[in-house]
Amino acid sequence: MPRRSRTSTALGIGATAVVALALAAPPALAGPAAAPDPVPSLVAGQDTAAPQLVTGLAEPAVGSPADAARAHLAAHADRYHVDPGELAEVGSESTADGRRTVRFEQRHDGVPVFGAQYLVHLTGEGAGQRVESVGGRYFTGLTAPTTATVPAAALRDAALGSVQDPKARAAATAEDHGLVVLPDGAGRLAQRFTVHATDPATGGPQAREVFVDATVGVVALAYDTRAPHPAGGTDQRAAAAPAAAGLEPATGTAPDARGNSAKVNIARLPDGSYQLTDLTRPAAITTYDAGGRDEMDFGGGIPADLPPAHSPGPGFPASTGTSGATDASVNAGIVYDFYHDRLGRNGLDGKGGAITSVVNVTQDGAPYANAYWDGKKMIYGSGGPNYYPFSAALDIAGHEMTHGVISNTADLAGMGQAGAMNEAIADYFGNAIEVTARGMSMNDPAAALLGESKCRTGTPQACADRRMDDHRTTVNDYLGGTIDNGGQHLNATIFSGALWDIRRTLDPLTADRVVYRALTAYLTPLDDFVAGRNAALAAGRDLGLSPAQLRTVAAAFDGHGIRTGWESRIGMDSRTLARSLSYSMAPPAAAGGHWVAMAPAPDPVKGTGGGNDSKTTALYTGSTTGRGTPVRLSPDDGRYHSWPATDGTNAVWKAIGTTAQDHSRELLTAPLSGAGPVRSLFLAPGQEPGSAQISGGDIAFTVNGSGRTGIWLSHDGAPAVELPLADGHHPDDLTLKDGYLAWTESWQDGQQHVTAPTVYSIAAGKVTAQYTAHAAPGAAASTASSARLAGGRLLWMDAPNRIGAHAAIRSGALDGSGVNEVLAADAPNAPTIGSNLAASDQAVTYKVESTKPAGGWTNSALPKLWQLPLGGGTPQRLSCNRGGQDQPAADQGTRVVWLDSTPGRTDLVVRDRAAGTC
Ligand SMILES: [Zn+2]
Repeated sequence: MPRRSRTSTALGIGATAVVALALAAPPALAGPAAAPDPVPSLVAGQDTAAPQLVTGLAEPAVGSPADAARAHLAAHADRYHVDPGELAEVGSESTADGRRTVRFEQRHDGVPVFGAQYLVHLTGEGAGQRVESVGGRYFTGLTAPTTATVPAAALRDAALGSVQDPKARAAATAEDHGLVVLPDGAGRLAQRFTVHATDPATGGPQAREVFVDATVGVVALAYDTRAPHPAGGTDQRAAAAPAAAGLEPATGTAPDARGNSAKVNIARLPDGSYQLTDLTRPAAITTYDAGGRDEMDFGGGIPADLPPAHSPGPGFPASTGTSGATDASVNAGIVYDFYHDRLGRNGLDGKGGAITSVVNVTQDGAPYANAYWDGKKMIYGSGGPNYYPFSAALDIAGHEMTHGVISNTADLAGMGQAGAMNEAIADYFGNAIEVTARGMSMNDPAAALLGESKCRTGTPQACADRRMDDHRTTVNDYLGGTIDNGGQHLNATIFSGALWDIRRTLDPLTADRVVYRALTAYLTPLDDFVAGRNAALAAGRDLGLSPAQLRTVAAAFDGHGIRTGWESRIGMDSRTLARSLSYSMAPPAAAGGHWVAMAPAPDPVKGTGGGNDSKTTALYTGSTTGRGTPVRLSPDDGRYHSWPATDGTNAVWKAIGTTAQDHSRELLTAPLSGAGPVRSLFLAPGQEPGSAQISGGDIAFTVNGSGRTGIWLSHDGAPAVELPLADGHHPDDLTLKDGYLAWTESWQDGQQHVTAPTVYSIAAGKVTAQYTAHAAPGAAASTASSARLAGGRLLWMDAPNRIGAHAAIRSGALDGSGVNEVLAADAPNAPTIGSNLAASDQAVTYKVESTKPAGGWTNSALPKLWQLPLGGGTPQRLSCNRGGQDQPAADQGTRVVWLDSTPGRTDLVVRDRAAGTC
């Protein structure tokens, strides 16, 4: 179901498209020559030598499925490039028709590789056993270290630091899951945490998967999740064997959420009373009535003092209906039967494990109008005045329980295209279950609606959360960026629309079997839409679909733009300077017709991965006109290079050592032309340099050490010296231009936290302006940030200390003689608090973020950049690119480079002037 979530998701992982390279398939793989077959016989992997999919095999395989699969991979090392010694079996599926899938997870020198799974499909028995197809994601270019060099406490602090709200951060916890390798280029060793906090906006729980680079100590990847909280017990009671608890099957009656009497399967306790446990299937289905307890109370499991929904006799009380307990129990049984009878699956885990629902939870004291799978069980809100309990909508129950099936099979990661497929498959089966159980026609207008029956009032169309017949396509509608974990709900109907079209054009049963086999036998955690298409086609062929039927499946994906290379067909009004910068949080720099940006790949222009390159990150530079080929700026020393600044001639940046021997924190500088050497600017044990800026012969930076931060300045190539700063004063946002240095200075004045844009004249050797008195007398205090020197003045943002407010842009003379308002905080399209200013001598550019629209996120609501003249005026859209825009850096005049997620990945792009109105 819809979740409110904003997060930083580096989409470099899992958001890349499969590229079907023109590799000649080995002769053994060649299919029939004549008949056009929509199922590709070989799909090459991206950033790896291991193919993503090989179909049409019939090669003998001896031994247990796992042994046979390993032997097959080893015998064809030239085809797969997979080292069986790096594979750990994580699950296997077998079907009634004798097909077996062995699912392996990749290890890198023993460390799990996040989302990397490789699958081998077998058929036949004994001497007749054959390998039919092989595929998944196995990364052959990993050279990442396997030992963390950042201390454990610092890794945990970095994970907790990803919680933005200071109060929420102070109370947050980080559950440590150990080391993983992120399969990004050469790989990135990371410590994986689940960070639990309270959402300051809603008071509800917030859980986020956070991966902290274990050799650098910065967050490499983060996305929201519903992982259960580790504290507060386990779900052991829910999973306890019913027989051991002395339960006997019985039947009873209970009112449902709409007040109708329903027959329910219940369990009789040894004391003669009854509870809502359905024992009629191999998987016991138990339902708990939270009785209005907060959803957070169930994060770690069922509280020890809460029994299942209970009744002294077999006739359950009215509260069993109003809470949603009856519907949760009945609907869980319908979902179980659908998966069992139609698809041969024994429960969510496939092994008849207990199925647990919790209904009637609240959130922050209010009725909760949502539902989710928390990794172990279903949690349903009681709805409220406008909604029935969410368990009363069969498609919602089917959706949440399908998340349980997915987490036990393909385990699609909850971000980007994989996250969208996770939601799409949950939507597909949620609706397929409802349509099947209710005997609805696929042509019924309500068939494609999800969640349409949960509303007490209004039409189904108005009530539905999503509709699978919204005709959305990748090229027209794909929503890139970081909102909604990279669009996991927003982009879901692009994929589910294709699946639903298959269900409408093939017969429903065949479609359900195709989607189910794609999920259980082909999809892996980081797959994208095109891999999903290939998975469905491969599943269809396994199931004996005719060529015409397979073409119908392919046409359904075509109809939603899901085909190889779709990302390159999205229209943009900007020039692309570098593709697939995985780290969408790393700001670029620009000046004098040149850009500098960080990328993990040796060749950001082609968008290829790191291959055998062992570097963590590198800085590249190129022309903001897009002419010429970007060149690598940072040395090839295995360190992490980031945080660049440039004056158009030279760049400064920070390098971080990434090995046990090298903990260096060094500032470096080099000419953009590549004509001179890389020089060290600052390196001192225990001292952390940062915020480096450069202008002509002057370089300024901060140094943090011994609990304080100082400003250092190197004038005209002389050694850097520290500037005097009052005790307890903290500098931030350094900016340097034409003989002036400026920063935002903050300090504590009694109870008040003061922030003051401050100007320092290098020639005069003193502070010449400090603007602390801009707030009108009696007005609420404001916070200054993002100081920038431009056009002979100092610019900054002034944000009222009010939730939801926008910031004003102000400018001050460098001699302290006065302040102008460039843009009022209440002007249309004023900057969002937290934005950064990008200023040239002509224009200032900034970001505006929207609050979530009532109808859910759309491309138009993603962050956009706006520009206005330096002296003031009406802000104009910098670019009409439909996706997310972030991290602007001003070049000359009105030219700005920024990070753009419109193409479904993060690219560095440029425009020479504002687009105006879009
Ligand atoms: Zn969902």
